[in-house]
Amino acid sequence: MNNIPQKTEDNVIHTYGRPPFTLVSGKGMIVTDSEGNEYLDLVAGIAVAALGHADPELTAAVSEQIATLSHVSNLYYTAPQANLAERLVNLSFADKVYFANSGAEAVEAAIKFARKYARTQHGPGKTGVVSFTGSFHGRTMGSLALTAREKYQAPFRPLMPGASFAPFNDIAAAEKVIGPDTCAVFVEPIQGEGGINPANLDFLQAVRARCDQYGALLVFDEIQCGMGRTGKLWAYEHYGVTPDMMTVAKALGGGLPIGVTLVTDAVANVMGAGDHGSTFAAGPVACRAAEVVLKRVSQPALLAHVTHMGDLLMERLHELNSPHILEVRGKGLMIGVAMDMDVTPIVQKGFDHGLLLLNAGPNVLRLLPPYIIAETHVDQFMTKLETILTEL
Ligand SMILES: *Cc1c(COP(=O)(O)O)cnc(C)c1O
Repeated sequence: MNNIPQKTEDNVIHTYGRPPFTLVSGKGMIVTDSEGNEYLDLVAGIAVAALGHADPELTAAVSEQIATLSHVSNLYYTAPQANLAERLVNLSFADKVYFANSGAEAVEAAIKFARKYARTQHGPGKTGVVSFTGSFHGRTMGSLALTAREKYQAPFRPLMPGASFAPFNDIAAAEKVIGPDTCAVFVEPIQGEGGINPANLDFLQAVRARCDQYGALLVFDEIQCGMGRTGKLWAYEHYGVTPDMMTVAKALGGGLPIGVTLVTDAVANVMGAGDHGSTFAAGPVACRAAEVVLKRVSQPALLAHVTHMGDLLMERLHELNSPHILEVRGKGLMIGVAMDMDVTPIVQKGFDHGLLLLNAGPNVLRLLPPYIIAETHVDQFMTKLETILTEL
């Protein structure tokens, strides 16, 4: 197995920098490399493995489904798609859903729905899409146009026209940029990649009001902050502000690729056969996986556990009293530790101490553990982090 990193670098385009070990298995909160080293997982595959690794119920459902019916495309009805859609609609503001294979694809669908909705309701020309600084909405040409990172955008211009940004949590700036030409406004209620930045309540309320004023659709991107991550099933529930569309992915499949765009009937009604589609989307295996994850993460007891463990982690991080820690922020198990330094050395040292850690931008350490994290894991993590911080 020692040749795996080399074989990867020889054959896979280098769009990710990886540590020099190879992960071979996982169970619960722990993943193991080819040398038998164990790592406590505080990343969960970037907010994906909500139920941890090798969850027995998820494994059984996926195994049964792939052995029964694995793929037939969207040309036919299948039960897993119908059941998952019904569950998503029952558990959210939405009246209808559209399935995709990833977060970026769910965002692309939302852009297309917004354009069609505006054209149908208001005629041509209402094509502007607004998003905010610090946002991350994906890396395809449309979603990248909404992702406010010069470094990500610059090499690939021209991107989708019509996109504009306003500073996050700046009400006056948002009101200025959202106007009669705006068809949609994309917001992460809690920004993930941008550094774990929660939106302010009055900001979301003002954006909602401005969208209503101009007939623009408000889209919440809950790809990272949704699916129970913050201690409520959807992050928008913390605010009491309801969107017209919402994108969800990452944790939805618990490790299988699936994304979804949730919409109101008003949006759904403008879309017809042939307007959008995907060969793989809503395949029976991914949908069965998502059914299990959604059933589990919508249970009040698990959501309460997420809140409790998140509070505990925050409390313990505050107690650390490290001079390098500027702020601890976030909600539930979506936590950012803002530091006065580049956090790369902490992530690197984490590997030596058996920790999988992640950054969100250069100066924020990001914690996105599986929801099954227990107090003993928090203890282990804090002990290791303390050691790492003293070694710096
Ligand atoms: C990860 C992420 C995306 C993109 O999802 P992919 O599945 O990587 O395409 C979009 N929006 C947010 C908020 C994300 O965190």
